[in-house]
Amino acid sequence: MRVLLVEDDVDIAAPLVRGLEREGFEVTHSETGAGALAAHDGPGAPDVVLLDLGLPDLDGFEVCRRMRSASEVPIIVVTARGDEVDRVVGLELGADDYVVKPFGFRELVARIRAVTRRAPVRESDATVTELGALVVDRRTRRVTLHGTELMLTPKEFDLLGALADDPGAACSRQHLLDVVWDPHWYGPTKTVDVHVANLRRKLGDPAWVETVRGVGYRLADPEAPR
Ligand code: CA
Repeated sequence: MRVLLVEDDVDIAAPLVRGLEREGFEVTHSETGAGALAAHDGPGAPDVVLLDLGLPDLDGFEVCRRMRSASEVPIIVVTARGDEVDRVVGLELGADDYVVKPFGFRELVARIRAVTRRAPVRESDATVTELGALVVDRRTRRVTLHGTELMLTPKEFDLLGALADDPGAACSRQHLLDVVWDPHWYGPTKTVDVHVANLRRKLGDPAWVETVRGVGYRLADPEAPR
């Protein structure tokens, strides 16, 4: 598993590199946004990116956008300020998760494992769910809406797949965390909300994913007659 660590502060980066290598990760470290984009596009593309937002050359948000437009690599954004989290969400960067400095090393490793984990394919279940104009194919991992394929990140696909397991049924945030992320993950459920926001944007009409107040979400066809 190759990790691209983008962090200009060597006091933070050096122990992280050592720790991640001890965990068995192969780590490439870049201190600049330009270096990170080169590493992302170069040979030995990373399996996951840890991206500090405060970089000396490029804006971290811009680095995230450019990586996301070029690949589906999971990106964990590292922010120095909690209020940046709202920007991460609000700007719909397509990041897969975030941590706020200072963060614990175990928490970071848990998040790396969670974003790189694919939801298991359940052989016995129906592989294709059709809901109105929306078609979710779990075998090919393709989603089409009105015949046009949607470009989803792996986690967005897994989330939509989990909601499509039982269209119309309410799914709790904890259930979605368990099946899409990690059953041993007890972190904040805001991660689910971030991915739902991105999914709604890609679906064009936010009504495809309805909020079930105090519970979570359900998949619904906004074009169906009521
Ligand atoms: Ca920094």
